[in-house]
Formats: sequence, C-alpha cells, structure tokens
Amino acid sequence: MSNHSTHSSSYDLVVVGAGNAALCAAISAREAGANVLVLEKAPEHKRGGNSYFTDGAIRFAYNDLSDIRKLMPDLSDEEAANIVMPEYSTNNYYDDLLRVTGGKSTPELANHLVNESYQTISWMREHGVEFELNYNNQSFEKEGQYHFWGGLPVKTKNIGMGLMKTLFERAEKLGVDVWYDSQAIELKTENNQITSIVLAQNEQTVEISTASAVLACGSFEANKQMRAEHIGKEWEAAIVRGTEFNTGDGLTMALAIGAQRHGEWAGCHSIGTDYNAPKVGDFTKPGDIFKKHSYPLSIMLNKEGKRFVDEGADFRNYTYAKYGREILKQPDHVAYQFYDQQVRPMLRKEYNLEEATYYQADTLEELVEKLDVNKEQFLKTISEYNDAVKEGYYNPTVKDGKGTTDLTPPKTNWALPIEQGPFYAFPVTCGITFAFGGLHVNTEGEVLNEDREPISGLFAAGEMVGGIFYGNYPGGSGLMSGAVFGKTAGASAASYVQNKNTNITS
Ligand SMILES: Cc1cc2nc3c(=O)[nH]c(=O)nc-3n(C[C@H](O)[C@H](O)[C@H](O)COP(=O)(O)OP(=O)(O)OC[C@H]3O[C@@H](n4cnc5c(N)ncnc54)[C@H](O)[C@@H]3O)c2cc1C
Repeated sequence: MSNHSTHSSSYDLVVVGAGNAALCAAISAREAGANVLVLEKAPEHKRGGNSYFTDGAIRFAYNDLSDIRKLMPDLSDEEAANIVMPEYSTNNYYDDLLRVTGGKSTPELANHLVNESYQTISWMREHGVEFELNYNNQSFEKEGQYHFWGGLPVKTKNIGMGLMKTLFERAEKLGVDVWYDSQAIELKTENNQITSIVLAQNEQTVEISTASAVLACGSFEANKQMRAEHIGKEWEAAIVRGTEFNTGDGLTMALAIGAQRHGEWAGCHSIGTDYNAPKVGDFTKPGDIFKKHSYPLSIMLNKEGKRFVDEGADFRNYTYAKYGREILKQPDHVAYQFYDQQVRPMLRKEYNLEEATYYQADTLEELVEKLDVNKEQFLKTISEYNDAVKEGYYNPTVKDGKGTTDLTPPKTNWALPIEQGPFYAFPVTCGITFAFGGLHVNTEGEVLNEDREPISGLFAAGEMVGGIFYGNYPGGSGLMSGAVFGKTAGASAASYVQNKNTNITS
C-alpha cells in the first residue's frame, strides 16, 4: 500500500462485512438513529458473503401455523387448510442445538438465539424480507395433507439471493452507506475504546473515524493457512462452498486489540460435495447446487476401493456434516457414491443438474474401467457388500433396519444389493461451509477482552460469534444466528454511541 489517508467523514458505526449478519446490524442501528457505513471487501458483483450462497433455510421457534402465516401473509386459507404444522417451541430449538453440539453450546448465547428467533424473523419481515414454505425438503404428503417436520418449514423467497437483494435495498433506502472493494484491516482504539478503522481500498489505506464497529465478516473458512493452523493440515485441500472473502480478517483484527477467542477453533461445518464443484463459491451459480446428500442410499468407496463409513447409520440430517470430514481423510480427498438403477430415481434434485459430475455404465465392470481407482478391489468390495445385504423391507422414509451382516463398516439401513444396471458413480470431495472459530461475545453483542470485559464500542455478529456451534449445527441456524446477533449488535452499537454523545454534551 503506497498511500494512507484519513477520510473526511466520520460515522457512528462502521459495519465490517455485507452478509446477512452485517446488514441486519446496519439496518437495526440505522433505525435506532445511528449513521452507518458498511464495508464490503468484495466487489459489488460478489457482495453478500456466504449468506448469498444459502438455500435460505432459516430456523426459528414458533407455536403453530398462525405464527408462520404472519410471515407470509399471501398464504391462502385454502392452502393453510392442507398443512399440518407441529409446534417448534423455544425448548425444542434449544434442545436441538444442544443435542447436535454435544451439549457444548454456550447456554446464554444459545438461549439468546432461540428466544429472539421469532421476534427477529418478524422484524426481518417488517423490513421487507419475504418468506415461503419449504415443501420440498421439510414436508411429506399424506392423504392430501402436507405434514411439516424438523422445525425448519420456512426459507427466504428466492433463496439466499433474494434475502441479500432485499437487505441491500432496505439498508440503502434507510440511508446506510455501502463501500465495495473495501477491506477492513485494522481497528484503532484509545483508552480501550474504538476510535477508527483502517481499510484497504484501491491500493491505498484509508482511516475512518468511528465511535463503534460491528464485525460481521465471517470466520476463516476461505483462508488455507488458518484452516491448516487451526483445524488441521488436511483442510488445505477442502473446497470452499461459499464466499472467497471470509479469510479471518475480523478475527485477526479483534485479537490484535485484545479480544478473547471463543468456541471451537479446531472445528468447522463441512459436507460431501461434487468433486468438480468450484474451488470457491461461484457467484454466478448461487444456491446449494453441488451438495450430494443422497449417500444414505449409496455405498461410498475411496480410490483404494474400500468403504470407510456406515452410509446408512442415520438420516442424512444427522450424518452429513461429519461425513464431509471423513471424505477429506481419504486418499486424494475423493470418494465415489455408487447407485444402481433401483435407487437412481430416488436421488435428490442436485443429482440431475447439468453441474453434477457422474460416470454411468451398463455393467459394474465397465463403470470401474472409467474410474481412476483400484479396480479389482472396487469390484471385490461391491461383491462382498452385495453378499452381506440382509433380506427385509426396504423403505427410505424410515430407518428400515435393512442393513448388512458381518461387514465392516456395516451399512445399518437402506441396504439394497447393487445389481440392476445402469450403474452410476458420483465422485465427491469435502466442502467447508464455515469455521466455528469466533470471538467471545455477550448477549448484547459486545466483544469481550481476555478479562471478559467489553471492549468499548466493539461488537460482533454472525459467524464471528464463537461458542454457539460445535461439531455441527441445526440446519437453518446460521442465518438465524446472523440475524439475531446482527440485530442485537446494531441496536447495542447505536445505543452505545447515543450514551457516549450524551456524556460528552452533558
Ligand atoms: C453453500 C452454503 C449453503 C448454506 N445454506 C444455509 C442455509 O440454507 N441456511 C442457513 O442458516 N445457513 C446456511 N449456510 C451457512 C450460512 O451461510 C452462514 O452461517 C451465514 O450466512 C453467515 O452469515 P454472516 O453474515 O456471518 O457471514 P457472510 O454472509 O459470509 O458475510 C461475511 C461478509 O464479510 C465480508 N468480509 C470478509 N472480510 C472482510 C473485511 N476484511 N472487510 C470487509 N468485508 C469483509 C464478506 O465479503 C461478506 O460480505 C450455508 C452456507 C453455504 C456456504
């Protein structure tokens, strides 16, 4: 950087990042009267962070269908009459969160997320975010009625793209300034209070005076070195499913001024994804189109022709996050999901997209000839598996117990012999979604220092909040956490600035 300059204008609040958490913070602070600048490291056509790449699934607590209908006023009485919507209480949400994180989620943060979830999604609606029912993934039809399950019935209209378009429009309408190609690189403090922020812009560094900052610039999932350092060397090879811009800058800046780390720095969310998915998220192909989540109906083999997990241990929801990590451990970080014609029509829609990579042949022998694998061992493994499949009733909608005998690893459910051509092999690798490493934040969104005291004027939200997710997360909670802690952090920052100004003038 050749030049350093000080920007002439100053702000009450600078929000670092322009994903869901950041824009919720900006809108919340602006409606409380603060003058707000949003810094986006990405150019405008790549704005919106991981939030842009989501399928928009968003998890919140609700009592019944009438709570859901308040979010989607267009849902007709006729449509509503055919919907069965069991309650998903704050206790249900809390229990799910604690169950999938092995009881490790920090209780006060988990409670804040869960208890504020409905109020926050209603607030998003008031600001124009539109929602719709997620019939495809979260309901089944029985006797003309749609039964929703799993506490995740709602997604944002037009998925993550729609969410981010609305939030940007709303923020701009409220008078929030947004600067693109602007990477925050340093926080400055005096007497433990935020005074300014330095950013890199067009080969220059610019310093902007501000009374407060909300860090909402993601974790370090897109930073190879930090992945290797904190999660493990093999994570250098992971595909980045979302934005390339979440390289841990916010964490680095905050730690440099004494913030405390929190949460599982050695952990991340990851999945099995198409082997040829882009190495970082492609903003021209948003939506979660590369995931390959039908593996419970498959057997998965590595290049050596060996199986390495129980593909049918449980429903996808409960195994997909940990199996991404298992795929990464395999030679060349690749595995092949095998299907025959019996199950091919049951695979999820992503398998039918033109972006899906697969090999197809009429016989198993012809299929393995197409793969760069130990062919002899492949055929042996498939033959041993076929011999081990138990008789029984096959039913992919329940844990059918139709597994294998005397096979290691076993396949516990949904085992059918692979015997009816054509046969299909889908190569997959590991894609990281986001890293769990974050900062210590309280329920006001304030960032704490090593003595667990707030750093005055510094707030954080979204992936930057450590201590909520460990090992796994209940699907749809990433967006909700960003919205809840973003809204909180924005309101807290605005109130901090008001108090500060009042103290100065009085
Ligand atoms: C493919 C995919 C699908 C997903 N699907 C879902 C889903 O359906 N539901 C769900 O709840 N979660 C989902 N998630 C997880 C979800 O995306 C995240 O939990 C959530 O969006 C994080 O929001 P955030 O605002 O914290 O971060 P982001 O949305 O990633 O925003 C971070 C922002 O910070 C910017 N930035 C980074 N560094 C700097 C810097 N130094 N200066 C300025 N700006 C900076 C980035 O450019 C970006 O704009 C999915 C993730 C992926 C990758």
